[in-house]
Amino acid sequence: MPEELRSCPLCGHERSNTLDQREHLGRPVTNRLCARCGLVFQSPRMTAAEAQVHYAAEYRRIIQGREAPIAKDLDFQTRRADWLVGFLRRKVGRLECHLDIGCSAGILLQRTREAFGVQTVGVEPGQAYREYGRGQGLEVHAALETVEATGQRFDLVSLIHVLEHLPDPAATLAGLRQKQLTPDGWLLVEVPNVYIHTSFEYEHLFSFSRRTLTEMLGKAGFRVAAVRVQGRPLSQMLPFYITVLARPQKLSRRPFRPRPERFVAGRRRLGWLFKKIVTRKLPRRWWLLMTIESYAQEGQ
Ligand SMILES: [Zn+2]
Repeated sequence: MPEELRSCPLCGHERSNTLDQREHLGRPVTNRLCARCGLVFQSPRMTAAEAQVHYAAEYRRIIQGREAPIAKDLDFQTRRADWLVGFLRRKVGRLECHLDIGCSAGILLQRTREAFGVQTVGVEPGQAYREYGRGQGLEVHAALETVEATGQRFDLVSLIHVLEHLPDPAATLAGLRQKQLTPDGWLLVEVPNVYIHTSFEYEHLFSFSRRTLTEMLGKAGFRVAAVRVQGRPLSQMLPFYITVLARPQKLSRRPFRPRPERFVAGRRRLGWLFKKIVTRKLPRRWWLLMTIESYAQEGQ
């Protein structure tokens, strides 16, 4: 049975309104909007046990027809990794070791190794992708607990399109800050932008805006050092993603009260109107990957 959330996972408020209801991959998906802080979260949603089965094998088979990596996905991940490394280079000097949670085929790890000479470790629950990464000579674990057991700390921890899949993002981030990240390390996070990305998928338990992501990071003890709302590698014009570089900070003793996000439903309607106009009127101009147009459909 799916699990119903009784209160907002960011601010704890008990009142929320239905923002969107749809079917995705033959399953009903309901997204709710917190009446106090403006966080968008899925409820009811899959349980931890359902998620484990789903990510071990089903997920890739459903979204791309088979479990193993396909050329189109690897190409997309390579373009994304190149952009992320460029983003890192502008802010970060030296790095020694990089932990990528949800590392997929391991392409970002390979790219940071080339760019910074880092030691790399990945965590990937999908078996076929994990084996692919290992086949490339990478150290890839099935679960974070195995990394934790080694006691190693990293000066870069990344979660690229992972946070929105986690049942309790603030708790996971706080755990990473306490156990895996060095005290002056960097956290790199990218999520879909709720105002322009479709986002309301069965696997997305949260749909963030720049503010709700910043507040979620704050709750977990991170301060944002740099943020880009951008569309690479999909689009130069449409900001599908929110990319954040954050650092650990001292936790405040005062009770956590996030700054609220306002007008979420209206801003999403405006974002979609903008996307509709751009993609219809200027289809060839705004997609960076115009040779592979299915990206455009899938990425929206
Ligand atoms: Zn809330």
